[in-house]
Amino acid sequence: MHPFLNALGIESDNPGAGAGEFLQTRGAWVESRNPSTGQVIARVRSATAEDYDALVTRSSEAFERWRREPAPRRGDVVRDIGNALREAKAELGALVSLEMGKIRAEGEGEVQEMIDIADFAVGLSRQLYGKVIASERPLHRMSEQWHPLGPVGIISAFNFPVAVWSWNALIATVCGNTTIWKPSLKTPLCAIAVHRLCQRVAAAHGHPDLMSLVIGSDEEIGERLIRDRRVPLISATGSTRMGRHVGQVVAERMGKSLLELGGNNALIVMDDADQELALRAVLFGAVGTAGQRCTTTRRLLVHESIADAFVERLVELYGQVRIGDPLESGTLMGPLIDEESIANMERALQAARDQGGGVIRGGEQPLKDTGGHFVTPAIVEAKPSMPIVSEETFAPILYVMRFSNLDEAIKIQNDVAQGLSSSIFTESMRSAERFLSMLGSDCGIANVNVGTSGAEIGGAFGGEKETGGGREAGSDSWRAYMRRQTQTINWSDEMPLAQGIRFE
Ligand code: NAD
Repeated sequence: MHPFLNALGIESDNPGAGAGEFLQTRGAWVESRNPSTGQVIARVRSATAEDYDALVTRSSEAFERWRREPAPRRGDVVRDIGNALREAKAELGALVSLEMGKIRAEGEGEVQEMIDIADFAVGLSRQLYGKVIASERPLHRMSEQWHPLGPVGIISAFNFPVAVWSWNALIATVCGNTTIWKPSLKTPLCAIAVHRLCQRVAAAHGHPDLMSLVIGSDEEIGERLIRDRRVPLISATGSTRMGRHVGQVVAERMGKSLLELGGNNALIVMDDADQELALRAVLFGAVGTAGQRCTTTRRLLVHESIADAFVERLVELYGQVRIGDPLESGTLMGPLIDEESIANMERALQAARDQGGGVIRGGEQPLKDTGGHFVTPAIVEAKPSMPIVSEETFAPILYVMRFSNLDEAIKIQNDVAQGLSSSIFTESMRSAERFLSMLGSDCGIANVNVGTSGAEIGGAFGGEKETGGGREAGSDSWRAYMRRQTQTINWSDEMPLAQGIRFE
């Protein structure tokens, strides 16, 4: 066992559900494997349906108490969670690297995002503003007030095993909700470590059941959660396939859902771009996290007049990327999460070849003797008409396509089902503004001289079309975690009706 696992309270066998304390779960054992070696890190015993039910009951009861706390008091709890995360940053960041496979700097970066969103949520706890609205009736006041919803279900993906939970949970918490977290079965230890840390803080504030964790299969636990009428909001992050199903199930019971799904992000390089900037952005965007970010750069659209030289430089830079153990300093790219991801990458590269594309580099499997799921990142010469470029393959494959003018580039960019992140590199103010305008990118995120990958927590994060339409983290995303009530008060002695109606 790595020493940081002990520091985080991870043992060789761990219970897979908890609220105020961990439960003695009795479900199937899940093995968490290190993607760099294929070895088991530790085991987790899944929750059963009874465990799940007990947790939701506790979460509903905790909500009754939590919603009475003034919002700034709720912010105090989140402030202490942020401080506990500051103390555990190195260990938790290392666990993210170990279990998910992203390099240590990115693992710690993920914990930093949690700390940042905690700070944001603390400030927000004093700013859950409603509006005062001019009433058309004399001596009336009309206003809006925002109320908590109840227990919020949070379903998270493997590739951001801690940050995505915090974007949802810490905002939901200051909004007065309790939370129930169902993490990916590929990264259960990260969830257990985070839960342990938050639970300690919540208990010290007298709200032990504020946050719940439930680990189990999609069939037994996931389906129960999304169908549960006691859980008014489900925030689900993951593939479009998952989101389409979850969205339909939650809509059927008239619940609310917040969907954060797949991306197919393009980066446009104009002929007037600062190419050195663009190269660095493409490299990090396409290769960082081994191509396993929702905002990974998957399509490079490059102006035909500079394409040959640009791609040649990019291939050179790809050759310098050190692949290996993500916990070792100097490593820039870790492994894919599992064998299935490698098979998906191989299938996509074969499809690209079959559809007329040319694999310029990548797709090999180095370091086989480690037992890890390592690949070399691929660059593929492609055409927009190839069906494979419209798919999100969760692996480091960059499809390069050429264009002759900005409108053509924008059309290629928008002509896919997903709508998460997008970028343009240009020195032209007109091109930049056109890209950002209603004639430009159709994505939830649009950047100029900034890559597609990663985002600051201050903005609302999410995307359009098959990315699901949800927004989380900063700006006014908090509204998704509350219900809006329009309130009208008559302080006159009359009973005037709206629209001037007389009923007498
Ligand atoms: P996935 O869809 O396989 O799983 C995501 C989560 O959904 C897991 O916790 C899984 O157990 C759960 N799930 C699946 N079926 C369910 C069901 N029937 N009921 C309840 N829960 C269910 O995705 P993944 O492989 O873990 O993550 C990669 C995907 O996530 C990529 O498509 C990526 O783009 C996307 N992603 C999106 C964002 C975003 O903010 N837009 C962020 C991170 C990842």
